[in-house]
Amino acid sequence: MKLVLRQLELPLDYSDADLLQAAAQRLRSESDQIRSIVIIRRSLDARPRRVSPVFIVSAEAVMADSFNLPARLPKDVELFKEAEEVNSQTLRPARPAAQRPIVVGAGPAGLMAACHLALVGLRPILIERGDQADRRRTVVDNFWRNGAFNPENNALYGEGGAGLFSDGKLTARSKDRPRIRTFFETLVRCGAPRDILIDAEPHLGSDVLLKVVANMRRLIEANGGETLYNTTLTDIICENNAIIGIKCGDKELPCDTLILATGHSARDVYHLLQAKKASLASKPLAIGIRLEAPQTQINLAQYGRFAGHPRLKPASYRVTRRPENNARACYSFCMCPGGLVISCASEDGALTTNGMSYSGRDSIWGNAAFIVPVEPEDFADPAFATSGNELAGLLFQEKIEKAAFAAGGGGFVVPALMLADFLAEKVSDALPANRSCQRSKPASFDTILPDFVARTLRHSIPPMLRELGSINTADCLVYAAETRSSSAVRILRDDSGQSPTLRGLFPAGEGAGYAGGIVSSAVDGLKAAEQLVATLI
Ligand SMILES: Cc1cc2nc3c(=O)[nH]c(=O)nc-3n(C[C@H](O)[C@H](O)[C@H](O)COP(=O)(O)OP(=O)(O)OC[C@H]3O[C@@H](n4cnc5c(N)ncnc54)[C@H](O)[C@@H]3O)c2cc1C
Repeated sequence: MKLVLRQLELPLDYSDADLLQAAAQRLRSESDQIRSIVIIRRSLDARPRRVSPVFIVSAEAVMADSFNLPARLPKDVELFKEAEEVNSQTLRPARPAAQRPIVVGAGPAGLMAACHLALVGLRPILIERGDQADRRRTVVDNFWRNGAFNPENNALYGEGGAGLFSDGKLTARSKDRPRIRTFFETLVRCGAPRDILIDAEPHLGSDVLLKVVANMRRLIEANGGETLYNTTLTDIICENNAIIGIKCGDKELPCDTLILATGHSARDVYHLLQAKKASLASKPLAIGIRLEAPQTQINLAQYGRFAGHPRLKPASYRVTRRPENNARACYSFCMCPGGLVISCASEDGALTTNGMSYSGRDSIWGNAAFIVPVEPEDFADPAFATSGNELAGLLFQEKIEKAAFAAGGGGFVVPALMLADFLAEKVSDALPANRSCQRSKPASFDTILPDFVARTLRHSIPPMLRELGSINTADCLVYAAETRSSSAVRILRDDSGQSPTLRGLFPAGEGAGYAGGIVSSAVDGLKAAEQLVATLI
């Protein structure tokens, strides 16, 4: 008999014996009546109301024959049930596609879509404007060191997409557990540590992602898929509102099914879609800055006297602030413990910030975006864009990114300030030599951020940091501007996953405007691939 036990509490330095004992206690059994036990889920509870942080785990236990199941099961114990979910990978199309499906974009959404199409035997062609991960890395390192920018191969474009030089945290708001599981199992199959299958807040880091992403490519190719790098989609050929092919520069490829997973940085793709009369809609986004604080202070704020315990990973945080006193809502986003602030760009002359980390999360800094919601009505502001245009949000983002580039003096140097100076509306005289983003320099954020964003941040950040506790404003830096937390445009799709006005086009991932983050984008890519397969069954 197999049982599932939930909400078992284990001390920070638990051993296998502690797990066994906690399970036996819960089941009111002897330890030797548990033949084997494995943890299937693990989260940390470090809330201050606890005397000390604990791990909360779920575990599967195989019981010995001598164990008699009580008529009434103890709290948080249930009989193990085989998952009833359909394994999407067993669904094979009844007939092969007349033409090979094409997937554009090798970010999390495109890679996952192409993996699925390859595994069901449809031999997809995956097209990516940037290079393979290892070659891309050299180019991006050069950008961070010298500001040498490559418009097709950069921190946002290339194999792995925006997710490659990222924090690689695999948290998701999506409740689509079966597809999340399929994604995580694919990552493990491609070299990610098995811990991601059980940890509540899994994290990979950019170094591990580099290896995993390359193995996803190998998985696609080994199952009949083809990958074309340094190849940019430049046109979509349509007939009677349906796709019949695409162009990548001079090269023309026939196709009647296309998964478009080009992310939300590829503004040229949105303009192409607008020209092709795909249905698009403007959507809300959020804009702000990235705040860097000493990781030791963040650990202290979150773990108290247990900070530094070897089982405690560098701490994360999440804070929100409601609208008040002429300030909008504000929230922290994409926290990177032990990470680095990076400069990102996908167009010359426009700069945005973000955060990344390596698997060890061993930088002495932790950073997070602090962002303010922006509504499509804001794009109507003549200072930013024209109203009534579904691409107005792109112009709004672009305007801020160009101002950030100019404020940094060109060369993709990031405008930065001491937090205290930003709050006091001053430009810092100097920045501390020890900071994660070395190619940064003092510059006013007031020429970069819209008024309502700067005002909200100044109003909200101090109480948000006070709420966290232990973080000293005087030690924090801020970098501008955080503009690409989500897509500014939605590519509309119907129940079959296709564009209602361009049949055969399956918009997927963050750029489609229905997903945000690595996991939800990958899950969306997988779903798009399943929907494509469904049109062939
Ligand atoms: C620095 C950074 C850190 C991040 N950290 C995290 C994190 O820790 N956790 C998290 O969940 N999310 C994180 N994110 C967000 C996450 O990376 C994205 O949500 C995710 O990558 C979106 O996946 P996607 O496949 O939809 O699009 P993308 O990853 O943007 O991939 C799109 C791909 O399409 C390609 N492409 C674009 N146009 C064309 C074209 N015309 N022809 C051919 N190819 C094209 C691009 O080169 C790119 O490779 C981070 C993002 C950044 C930038």
